[in-house]
Amino acid sequence: MKKTIILSFVSVVLLGLLLAACSISHTHEFGEWVTVKSATCIEEGVEERTCKCGEKETRSIGVQSHNIVKSDKVDPTCTEKGKTEGTYCTICGTIFTESADIPELGHNYEFVQDTATCTAEGFKEYKCSVCGDVKQEKSDKKAHSYQSTVVKAAGCTTDGVKRYTCTVCNDSYDETVKATGHKFKSATCTEPKKCSVCGLTEGNALGHDYKSSITKQATCTSDGVETFKCSRCNDSYTKKIPGSHDFVDGVCTKCGNYDDYLGCAIVAVKSYFQANLKNPNSLQLHSIKYYVGKNDKSYFYLVVEYSAMNGFGGYNRDTAYIYIHNKGDGTFGYSPYSTSNSATDSYSSKAVTYSDISRFTDYYYS
Ligand SMILES: [Zn+2]
Ligand SMILES: [Zn+2]
Ligand SMILES: [Zn+2]
Ligand SMILES: [Zn+2]
Ligand SMILES: [Zn+2]
Ligand SMILES: [Zn+2]
Ligand SMILES: [Zn+2]
Repeated sequence: MKKTIILSFVSVVLLGLLLAACSISHTHEFGEWVTVKSATCIEEGVEERTCKCGEKETRSIGVQSHNIVKSDKVDPTCTEKGKTEGTYCTICGTIFTESADIPELGHNYEFVQDTATCTAEGFKEYKCSVCGDVKQEKSDKKAHSYQSTVVKAAGCTTDGVKRYTCTVCNDSYDETVKATGHKFKSATCTEPKKCSVCGLTEGNALGHDYKSSITKQATCTSDGVETFKCSRCNDSYTKKIPGSHDFVDGVCTKCGNYDDYLGCAIVAVKSYFQANLKNPNSLQLHSIKYYVGKNDKSYFYLVVEYSAMNGFGGYNRDTAYIYIHNKGDGTFGYSPYSTSNSATDSYSSKAVTYSDISRFTDYYYS
C-alpha cells in the first residue's frame, strides 16, 4: 500500500512539469531540409530540418526508379561461349533478366583434300568454313582404281585373259576368264543341235513332222489342194489333188455328168432335131437314161428323150436311143440307134467321134 502511494505522487509531479513546458511554447521556424540519408532505387531516404529551438522534423524521401539498361549480347564463336542479352539497373545493380551462356558453336569443318594415293599414305585436310581453322587427319593408302581390258577373249573351250590396270599408278594383274562352254541351241527340223558361238554341231536335224490337211477339195472340173504343214516349224508345201470326173459307164459317179463322147452324142441328137423339126424351139431335152447291156455288160445305151418329137419325119416317137459301147480302154464305140429299148448285144462297136455320132441320125431316118 505504501509503494502505491509513492508512485502516484511521482506521476503528479511529472504531469505538472509537462504542463509548465507547454505554457512556454512558440511557433517553430525550421531551416532547409537536409538529406540525412539519400534515397536509392530500393530504399527510401530520410531528410530533416531543425528549428532554432532544436526541434527537428524528419520526413522520408521516396524510392528512386531503377535505371534499367540492356547488357550487350555476345555471339558465340567456334571456340568461345557467347551470352544472351540481359537487363540490369545501373544504379543498384539489380539484374532483371539474367544473361545466359550460349555454348560455343564448334568448328564447321569441310573436306578440302586427301593427299593419300594408291602407293602412299597421306592426310585428309579439313578447313572450318567459319573461322578458317585447318585440321589434318592421317589417311591410309587408297585402293587402286583398276580398269579391266580383255587381253584374250574366252572361247567355248579355251580360257581367256582379263587384265586389270590401275589408272593412277599403272599397277596391273591378270585374271583368267574360264572357257564359256558351248551354247547349244536345240536341234530343229532343218538343223542339228548347234553351238551358237563356234558352230559345233551334234547329232542330226529332226526333219519336218508334216501333217496333211485338205485345204481345197478337188471337184470334177478343178484341182484341189492338199497342204502339208510341219507341226514344229510351220514349214509347209502343197500338193495338187487332180480334179477329174469319176466316170463309170460314161457317167460321173460324183457329179452325174456324161463323159465327152456321150456329151457329143447328146449335142448331136439335139442339133439334128433342131435342124429338122418343124418347130425347133419346142425341142426340149426331157431326160437321158442309161441302160447296161443285158448280156455284155460292156455295152450300155443312152436314151435321149426329147419332147415335141411327135410327127417328126413321119414318126410318132419322142425317144431316140443311142447305143454306146465302153471299150474299156478309155474310148467308146457306138452302135446305131434303135427306136425301141429292147436292146440287144449284137451291135458292132466303133471308135466314137463327134462326126460319127452326128451320122447316127442317118441310120435312124434312112
Ligand atoms: Zn522551435
Ligand atoms: Zn536500381
Ligand atoms: Zn571454326
Ligand atoms: Zn594404283
Ligand atoms: Zn561352241
Ligand atoms: Zn519342220
Ligand atoms: Zn464329175
